[in-house]
Amino acid sequence: MPIFIYNSLSRKKEELVPLKPKEIKMYVCGPTVYDQPHIGHARSAYIFDVIKRYLVYKDYEVTFVRNVTDVDDKIINKAKEELPGEDLNTSFKKVADKYLSAYHDALNNLGIEENGIVEPKASDYIPKMIKFIQDLIGRDTAYISEGDVYFDIKKARDYGKLSNQAIGKMESGARVALGEKKKDPLDFALWKSAKAGEPAWDSPWGKGRPGWHIECSVMSSDILGDEFDIHGGGLDLIFPHHENEIAQSEGAGKKFARYWIHHGLLTINGQKMSKSLGNFITINDVLSKYPVDALKILYLQTHYSNPMDFTERKLDDAYKATQRFEMLFHNTQKARKSCISGIRKAADFIEKNKNNFIEAMDDNFNTPDALASLFGLVSDTNKFIDSGAGSDEYVQIINEAEGVIRDLGKNVFGFVFENNHEVTEIGQDEIEARIIDRTNAKQAKDYVLADKIRKNLEGQGIILEDTKDGKTTWRKKL
Ligand SMILES: [Zn+2]
Repeated sequence: MPIFIYNSLSRKKEELVPLKPKEIKMYVCGPTVYDQPHIGHARSAYIFDVIKRYLVYKDYEVTFVRNVTDVDDKIINKAKEELPGEDLNTSFKKVADKYLSAYHDALNNLGIEENGIVEPKASDYIPKMIKFIQDLIGRDTAYISEGDVYFDIKKARDYGKLSNQAIGKMESGARVALGEKKKDPLDFALWKSAKAGEPAWDSPWGKGRPGWHIECSVMSSDILGDEFDIHGGGLDLIFPHHENEIAQSEGAGKKFARYWIHHGLLTINGQKMSKSLGNFITINDVLSKYPVDALKILYLQTHYSNPMDFTERKLDDAYKATQRFEMLFHNTQKARKSCISGIRKAADFIEKNKNNFIEAMDDNFNTPDALASLFGLVSDTNKFIDSGAGSDEYVQIINEAEGVIRDLGKNVFGFVFENNHEVTEIGQDEIEARIIDRTNAKQAKDYVLADKIRKNLEGQGIILEDTKDGKTTWRKKL
């Protein structure tokens, strides 16, 4: 079955047809490294990790490039703040390296596969950017203005096609900032002449540094070629960043990206995340309290194209959802040992839920539906176990169901299936034995004893929950 992707450029869902069969070349705009990575960065990285994983799952050979912006005003400002008095030509790099390594650590803690990722840094690409800019000047799509070089948007074919805006309208909203020497307010800097004390490189136009947009056009074509399959990033990058990437690359005679994927942005309790609002949540803040699968389930519950509002409550619920896997694996283990005779039920539930999962992912990576199918398989497997048939086939079906859950969960969603940051002191068998004691106590109307067992378990970090159908489930306390 083919995969369909919503292409932001055509504003339509399109069948993914790669340039070369079974090969996907993909470029994602990565972080500007000047601060601790937060849960918005994690969502972006995880969305593209899941997309990449799913493409690999469908047997594509994926080349995945995610750039690092390590030359930027924000980094320079941070260097002035953290390393006052030091030469900015070297201190900016120290700051960028420090926060890039924090980013790598956080991604590693998230279990986001970094193997095989190509991660070019802007600072390593300055000579190639200069060459690219020279080419644009040679083609008369860029012009030099007192040591700066600007892209001439009047020379771009269909400028505004990605963000779906008319040039006239954009121009009326744009303005020329102080110190900019450009012909049109929409023209953007490819090269900026050096300001005193700031990091600068030699160029044919004098000392300076590149504008932000040029690095992605240069690095993508250098690594993936003049035309490649997928370009991704956050919705906030459509304009001007991605619009300008297209203008630059097409201006240099390249075909550039064929499918554009944009993800929605993350808010905290309905507000934009910012340090000044005091709602800045780092990836490690979350992972110090919750298992990584809880955060992943929370992300998967929202389709990548939609905005996502983060609340602690939703994270608690996602944590409870992780326990459903844990309980299931416990049940399958028990069922393997059991030998109860009974009637075997048809096992088409495995195929059905797996197909639903794949159908959902094929349809523009619909993770909320795919996750629901995975939990559907968890429920159906539990029901099958309860149907209790002790034949070889019964065990085989349980093994198969568990295998599918582990395969899809691990390979597509990157689950670790371990609440490993929090270890309980008592084993699962003991918990279950006490649950039976409590049920017996309740049946004997000894509510004092029943309550004592419940409180006792709670003291050991185990919360009991009574379901509507009279069963009792348990989960670890947060
Ligand atoms: Zn970019």
